[in-house]
Amino acid sequence: MNKPAESAKRFQTIYFIGSGPGDPELITVKGKRLLKKADVIVYAGSLVNEKVLQYARKDALVYNSASMTLDEIMKIMVKAAKSGKRVARLHTGDPTLYSALQEQAFVLEKYGIPYKVIPGVSSAFASACALKKELTLPEITQTAIFTRLEGNTIVPEKEKLSELSKHNATMCIFLSVGMIDKVVDELKKGYPDNTPAAVVYRATWEDEKIVRGRLKDIAKKVNRAGIKRQAMIIVGKTLNPSIPPLTKGGKGGLPPTSKLYDKGFEHGCRKKNNKY
Ligand code: SAH
Repeated sequence: MNKPAESAKRFQTIYFIGSGPGDPELITVKGKRLLKKADVIVYAGSLVNEKVLQYARKDALVYNSASMTLDEIMKIMVKAAKSGKRVARLHTGDPTLYSALQEQAFVLEKYGIPYKVIPGVSSAFASACALKKELTLPEITQTAIFTRLEGNTIVPEKEKLSELSKHNATMCIFLSVGMIDKVVDELKKGYPDNTPAAVVYRATWEDEKIVRGRLKDIAKKVNRAGIKRQAMIIVGKTLNPSIPPLTKGGKGGLPPTSKLYDKGFEHGCRKKNNKY
């Protein structure tokens, strides 16, 4: 086998591209440009919206990886890159969250095939945008946790939902809506019952659906809506439909505001009271 440094000169770079949460306009400009040039495209068909393939060349070879094994996927990508073909590997959302990126990268490194990873809009962010809510708010929480309930994939003991919920931070829970009752049971061990919760089904797709509630009733509402997959669960006080409860920073009935645009605060880009 060639040494990685030698091979890197001859083999085409493989691009792992985050294709975004669904809406084909939410792929990055760079991701789209690379997709347009690709000779071979392997897309994760279980979640990637096939509409992004409209950017592909008509003569590109397109494979849906949904029913393939890792070996099968890698065989296609390695063979193509070795024969000088440009490969785009499309993942849903951002490729650094729950996408099996590293096991693929490991094989490419073994063969000395260069690769790059292009970010995408994660469904966590698309879902928060659908709700028109920030995941972090001054004085409410400055932390967002990305996590999941244990399923076939083991979750480390210290990261069980019951443990994480003790922080009362915002939580974006992937891959778990099918077990919403269990999710809620675990979350209730740390969050108060009336903590706002929302489920966004297929954020940014044409059939996007939003279910809003509180920990005490969200499971019932989600079950009633028949949502079993492809949805994000977001929990935390920043989702509060009313003005967040005032703490020391809140002024005259307004929610706590950030320092970023506070006229009494200066930073690298702005003097106090706009005196630049
Ligand atoms: N890398 C992806 C996540 C892949 S894991 C990302 O960054 O978004 C798959 C899980 O992501 C699904 O089970 C669901 O929880 C979530 N998901 C993917 N697309 C979604 C969408 N359009 N709306 C809501 N949740 C979505």
